[in-house]
Amino acid sequence: MLGIPFLVGLVVYYNYLQDLERVSNERLTLYESTLNSALQKYEYLPYLVAKTDIAHQLLTTGKDLTEVNMFLEQANLKAGSAALYILNPDGIVVAASNWREKNNFVGLNLSFRPYFKDALRGNDGKFFGVGVTVGKPGFYISHPILVNRKVVGVATVKIVLSQLEALWQEGGETVFVADSNGVIVLSSRPSWKYRTLAALSSDILDTIHERWQYPELKLKYLPSKRTSRMGAMEEVTIGTERFLEKTRSIPDMDWEIRYLMQQDALWERTLGTSLTSFVLVGLAILTRLFLRERRQKEISRQQAIEAERVRAINRQLAQEIEERKRTEQELREAQEELIQAGKLAALGEMSTAVAHELNQPIAAIKTYIASCKLMMARNKPERLEETLTKISDLGDRLAKVTGNLKSFVRKSSNKKSEFDLRLAINESLTLMKHQFQVEACDLKLTLPDEPVFILGDRVRLEQVLINLFRNALDSLQGTPSPFVGVTLSLGMEHAKIHVWDNGPGIASEVGKRLFEPFVTTKKDGVGVGLGLSISYKIIKEMGGEIRGGNRDGSGAEFVIRLPLSKPLEEG
Ligand code: ADP
Repeated sequence: MLGIPFLVGLVVYYNYLQDLERVSNERLTLYESTLNSALQKYEYLPYLVAKTDIAHQLLTTGKDLTEVNMFLEQANLKAGSAALYILNPDGIVVAASNWREKNNFVGLNLSFRPYFKDALRGNDGKFFGVGVTVGKPGFYISHPILVNRKVVGVATVKIVLSQLEALWQEGGETVFVADSNGVIVLSSRPSWKYRTLAALSSDILDTIHERWQYPELKLKYLPSKRTSRMGAMEEVTIGTERFLEKTRSIPDMDWEIRYLMQQDALWERTLGTSLTSFVLVGLAILTRLFLRERRQKEISRQQAIEAERVRAINRQLAQEIEERKRTEQELREAQEELIQAGKLAALGEMSTAVAHELNQPIAAIKTYIASCKLMMARNKPERLEETLTKISDLGDRLAKVTGNLKSFVRKSSNKKSEFDLRLAINESLTLMKHQFQVEACDLKLTLPDEPVFILGDRVRLEQVLINLFRNALDSLQGTPSPFVGVTLSLGMEHAKIHVWDNGPGIASEVGKRLFEPFVTTKKDGVGVGLGLSISYKIIKEMGGEIRGGNRDGSGAEFVIRLPLSKPLEEG
């Protein structure tokens, strides 16, 4: 952004420079044309004079002097030139428009003037110099007077350019005309007149002296220097002032007209616009900074609000977590209380069931003992044995119930080890082999080729499997071509054991209470209804699950899912 003022300055500078160039060209053309017209205006005069008969007569016979003088006087007056005069071949003025004046030209020897010499050679002459009588500067134009192709004299007009100079001065601009030697002959600045732009050599000074051309005391060097080019213009220093200059030559005269412009305006404008744009850019930058600062502040404020909100949310979250922990603790405590209560309830339930289960055989035992006593009293020992056997059977039944109960309440042994499920299945089937044979039951066994490792108590799992096989065999009593299917399959994280049969299926009265204790359909004390509930407990302790139900076709089906000790790797 800081480059902008420079660029603006540069653009303004070149634009303005171009403007200046254009203007200076126009001005120069104007000055040149006014000068040319001032000079050319009188060019015809000496020519006309040279053509008059009276001039010829005067020069050839010496006659009609007064008439010629009056003619010149009139012509000069009409044309508005400074003086009009005739020289004889020796350079002596023989007739002049100012013949009546005190400082008239008549009799003056002007043979040293170049315009005279030029005309004597038959050419037109042009010369700028100060006059010899009163030293008034003027421009002289001469024309030869020919009689029979012989130069008999020279007609000359003097033009004073002071009016033109006065006009230039009034214009307030700086313009001057210098001759080929660098002498300033016309200038809008009077103090520069006859000053020289280059130091004059003694030869040149001699020539000037000979021609009586300039007031020699005024011919002083005006220090001037061209410093650099600026487009089509040149930078010059004259005296102590710096200008931009445009020059044009006037070939006819061997003169150069120079138009000078103060450089200050260019620099003022360039600097002015650069400074203005600098200030504007500065303001823009400041505004930007201010806005950015404000935005930053706003963002910081928003961030602070956001941070505060996050802190508040965190505090709330911490509170909630605290509360949740407390609730959790309360819940745990409540749960423990519930468990405790549930245990008590279960104990109560179980006590009723156990009492019922035990009371009946105990009552029977009591009855049998009473009848034994009666038999002994009646001295009939022969039936005693039979009754005692019944008592013994009932004792066995009681032992079975309590044995099973012990197994139910037995805590997990925690003897966990990794074992291959295939071995456990095979081992339990070996133990049941005899029963399968007795009941003529078929076995459909499908095991995977690779070992299926799980973590747990192998003996307890075998207990579960034996129980399932036992139940299946029990249900298959009376079923034609009975079979039991056993399949072990492998999932990504679990092993699945399927045990199914083609028996009558699970009785509807059992239904959903399949895994509850003391639920049995087996008569005559064959079952106590604890097998499946114990199995359920064992599988749960191993982190698995057991489900049972009826198959679509016929028979019951049990599925055990157990977690693998090492989950299979995918792929
Ligand atoms: P119990 O074997 O002492 O009866 P369980 O808990 O092992 O006790 O079994 C509960 C009941 O579930 C059985 O009495 C029986 O009615 C039913 N049951 C279990 N397995 C099967 C099966 N494979 N087919 C039909 N019913 C079954």
